[in-house]
Parts: sequence; structure tokens; C-alpha cells
Amino acid sequence: MPQIVCMKNVLRYYRERPELVEKNRRIEESGRCPFCPEGLKSEGFQIVGETTSWTIASSQFPYRGSDVHLLVLPKRHVITSLDLTSWEWEQWPEILRIATTEFPFLTTGFGLAMRENVLGGVTLYHLHFHLIVPKANAEGGAEVPVNFAIG
Ligand SMILES: [Zn+2]
Repeated sequence: MPQIVCMKNVLRYYRERPELVEKNRRIEESGRCPFCPEGLKSEGFQIVGETTSWTIASSQFPYRGSDVHLLVLPKRHVITSLDLTSWEWEQWPEILRIATTEFPFLTTGFGLAMRENVLGGVTLYHLHFHLIVPKANAEGGAEVPVNFAIG
């Protein structure tokens, strides 16, 4: 049975949101990872593009202040970046090309963040990268620059 939900972090983040704790408990019990390709499909994620080994999807819970919040996920159920093969890493230029073709304003700047495992603060173990573009103001600058909080 693959590790799917990090209940330790779910309980920490969603102390005040019992419905989200319950949702994550159901995910864990189902044994089906929402970030594996079949899960992304059944959860209704909008797929922006894909490479041989990665899927680029729109986040269902975009960060506040973001204009675009993409998730970049290996198609394999990988938990740590050390489990990625060189071949998977080598597809990042293609991933960024797909993302900037779909969202040309990405070329004005974006933030890229990845967490992994319990201390990285994940709620779902399936390795994923967040590609974030902040909302632009009238002058074309960011209303709030991308800022990945640690805590
Ligand atoms: Zn998975």
C-alpha cells in the first residue's frame, strides 16, 4: 500500500476544518492517490499539459494572491526527489516550455516550490512542485511577490 496522505500534516493544517480532515481520511482509506494520473483525472483536475513522465495540472486550491498556480507532478508515485531518475529531471525544460506556451506571462516571473515528506510539510506524499505566478497589478508588477512561507 503506497503512502498517500500525511495525516500528521493534515491534522496540523486543518485543525479548524474537520471536513478536510475527513476528506483526507477517505483518500487514505481508498488507497487511491489523487496525484497519480488516474487520480488527477477522477478528481477533475484541469490538465494543462504533459511530458512522457510528468503532468502539469491547475491547482484546485490556488494560493491566495496567485494568478496561476500549477502543480507539476511525476506520473510515477514518487515520494522524494531522490527517487526521480535523470530522465525525469531532464524533462524540466520541456515542462517550462509547455507552461510558458500555455501562460505566456510566465516569462515575467514565477516562483517554483517543492516540498517533500513529513518535515517538508506535505499533505499528500506524491511529490509535487508548485509553479506560481502572482496577480499582476495595473503597472504589470506583482501585487504581492511570490512568497513561500516556511511554517
Ligand atoms: Zn501518487
